[in-house]
Amino acid sequence: MDYNTEVINRAATQLAEMFKNIVISQQQGGQGIPAIAQIESHMREVLRQIGLRALGQFLSAMQTTPASEIPCACGGTLYYQRMREATITSVFGKTSYTRAYYAGCSCQRGKSPLDEQFGLKPGAVTAGLAQLLALAGIEFSYDQSPKWLQAYLLFEVSENTVRSETEQMGALQEKQEEGLIQRSQDETYLQERQRMPGPVVPRLYGSIDAAKVRIEPRPKRGQAPEEHEDWRDMKVLCWFETENVPPAQRSARQRQQVERQQVALRAKNLRYFCDIRGADDFGKLLWATGCNLKADLSPELIFLGDGAVWIWNLVAKYFPNAIQIVDWYHAEEHLEIVASAAFPQDPDRTNWLEGVTQALWDGQVEQVVAACKALAASCELARKAAHYFYANAERMRYDRFRAAGYMIGSGTVESGCKQIVTQRLKLPGAQWTITGAVQTAKARAAWLSGHWQTLCNLRSALPLAI
Ligand SMILES: [Zn+2]
Repeated sequence: MDYNTEVINRAATQLAEMFKNIVISQQQGGQGIPAIAQIESHMREVLRQIGLRALGQFLSAMQTTPASEIPCACGGTLYYQRMREATITSVFGKTSYTRAYYAGCSCQRGKSPLDEQFGLKPGAVTAGLAQLLALAGIEFSYDQSPKWLQAYLLFEVSENTVRSETEQMGALQEKQEEGLIQRSQDETYLQERQRMPGPVVPRLYGSIDAAKVRIEPRPKRGQAPEEHEDWRDMKVLCWFETENVPPAQRSARQRQQVERQQVALRAKNLRYFCDIRGADDFGKLLWATGCNLKADLSPELIFLGDGAVWIWNLVAKYFPNAIQIVDWYHAEEHLEIVASAAFPQDPDRTNWLEGVTQALWDGQVEQVVAACKALAASCELARKAAHYFYANAERMRYDRFRAAGYMIGSGTVESGCKQIVTQRLKLPGAQWTITGAVQTAKARAAWLSGHWQTLCNLRSALPLAI
């Protein structure tokens, strides 16, 4: 859009003049000069009022002389009734406009072509406001969101509106994912893709994790709500690539990594997907999103996980050629737990831990298993750890993985779980329905994956599709 600077200048001059006169008359009345913050906030409010009126007037002005009849979607005819007022809530607040209203078709439906033309739904929020509300909703708890929005937008929005707009974004994301799932089960598409794969990512990573979400207890007869607390696993999947970190940008952890590994890697192009579903259904999402990224065609596909059996089962089922790696930090943590449990005191604890950590780092998993087994008789945690290292031995050949330049532990998906689940779904007082938790998480994942604009575009087209 090209703006007419002259019109803007003229309006600005008028506004400046108005404020100058107010301040002068206040001074004459004995009041001092107001602080700039005060001027700013008043000017924002005035600009909002201008926007409110301008938008309403603009929409009314776009109504051309109405035709006496127009075709109805059902195939019948709609007849012009009258000019009718409608209210919408835009980024400026609640605003009204007038447009032609048609009715009289045998299908009983009426409509205003202007609303369709601009994608407006009377009584609802505009797409422009919807995306701002949803942006607050993925970041703040629903009861806190209105407070933040009031500060930014200068008008009140209800908690329920923020919730429904955020969930709407999540629902749009879900719909996109369903589309991907359907396509990933279509033989023709899969064959076509094999035949003409196009560019693929040479080294692609996948990472899967889960975190608990508290689902609103529905009181059962004769039971106090706390007796059946309901926690569900929100599974989080992250696809990513890696790049070398330039020395100046390295974090303390990355500097440590370089000292040990001679190279600092960081994740880029992160794409998060999440859901509260059983592993089988989550596997469909894993395959569908992987398919979309051509993960199966990637010459090197690497999966990082914490060692949970369901994760490796899914990876083996859908991406049998992938390299499986147990996240280094998880493996290391197991050793720390054993050390604390088996050795009450230093230096025994540190000596043992240093030895096994070095062995693990060198890919000598059998040595680690033996060290844990030696403690198994007197320490249950050591016995469990021995089993854990034994079962995951091939996923812990860190010497080989490091030599190949693979990322062996990034916290990438963990931070995905943290960013999606902990930071938003576990906010104080947060209680969820399954749908509410899933849709809010999906909207948040879309934002973190740089997929937000796509959802906004879909949201813009929404009222037209109804
Ligand atoms: Zn009709």
